[in-house]
Amino acid sequence: MRELTEYEKLSVDESRDRIAAVREVAGERLTVLAHYYAPDEIVDIADYVGDSLGLAKKAAESSAEAVLFCGVRFMLETADILMNRPERIAAREGKRALVMAPDLSAGCPMADMITAEQARDWKKQLETLVDFNEFTPITYVNSSSETKAFCGRNGGAVCTSANAEKVVREAFKRRPKLLFMPDSRLGRTTSLALGVAPEEIATWRPSLPLGGLNPNEIKRAKVILWDGCCPVHQHFSESVIKKIKADNPRAEFWVHPEAPRNIVDLSDGYGSTTTLIDVVSKAASGSVLAIGTEWKLVDRMRRQNPDKTILFPAERPMICANMAKSTLVKAAWTLENWMDGEPINVVSTFDDVAEDAYRALESLL
Ligand code: SF4
Repeated sequence: MRELTEYEKLSVDESRDRIAAVREVAGERLTVLAHYYAPDEIVDIADYVGDSLGLAKKAAESSAEAVLFCGVRFMLETADILMNRPERIAAREGKRALVMAPDLSAGCPMADMITAEQARDWKKQLETLVDFNEFTPITYVNSSSETKAFCGRNGGAVCTSANAEKVVREAFKRRPKLLFMPDSRLGRTTSLALGVAPEEIATWRPSLPLGGLNPNEIKRAKVILWDGCCPVHQHFSESVIKKIKADNPRAEFWVHPEAPRNIVDLSDGYGSTTTLIDVVSKAASGSVLAIGTEWKLVDRMRRQNPDKTILFPAERPMICANMAKSTLVKAAWTLENWMDGEPINVVSTFDDVAEDAYRALESLL
């Protein structure tokens, strides 16, 4: 096996050349997917760049034998589940598609804020007070495959920030109540948008008995949110936003729904990463926009839209350190090992977890 230390001496151009050489030989056997928050050097070599929903759909459609997925672990697990359905493996004559990461340590702190064991314990505690069958458990795609499997086993679904309202609306048609995990911010904003009253929304703090709620609050709640959040989207500043608006009365402020509610309340609109990109690209020349999402993406929007003023509504840049772990050097290392027939950094999901998680993931497709 080739060691990463051999590659650390390579320049960006040398790494890019080595990746191009692998791709030349591999042709359609290999696909490179990247999330919008990946570094520019990775975005430049990707076959497809997208948000979680777009990437999941691309993986589901892909007929490649191997994917280099430049994102974070939950995205690779989702791609592995979708690419390795039993019928897809049969079509590949029994071969699993390989889903490889440039850096296997790239995780998502929000996804790690709930484990399957905690989800099961949540259910157990609720069952002492209410009929659990009245709840649909919904997990944001930013969660482990085990958390998705918990939702699949309990009649629930997976949503992304792009389709959360649709998924939650459907859930309410089937059952009167909802559990939303792990992102309390997206859960609250989505529930409010669908007309749930603020007093019908409770937040479950897992470190406290009964989530820190009293029995009446639990019985009354229409929506119970797991107390998780994305650390990257928590630092937008009310005072910076107010100053931007005061200095530029025509400025529009758009934000990702992973932001806290007080920030969403100050916005002119909110939406998924793809929505925010569309807002910027469709804005008239000369527009002033403040965009509340991950800094690397906002910085790229600035460079791609030099005729518009794009402001960042925080005191300092907020970067997703895990998304930044995908580099050309690590991509070259991963791909050359794959070419040698010794794949590394492969993410795969146990069959029973994959089956239950798939039931919840069908809502994305
Ligand atoms: S931006 Fe937030 S939610 Fe997205 S991968 Fe990074 S930590 Fe996770």
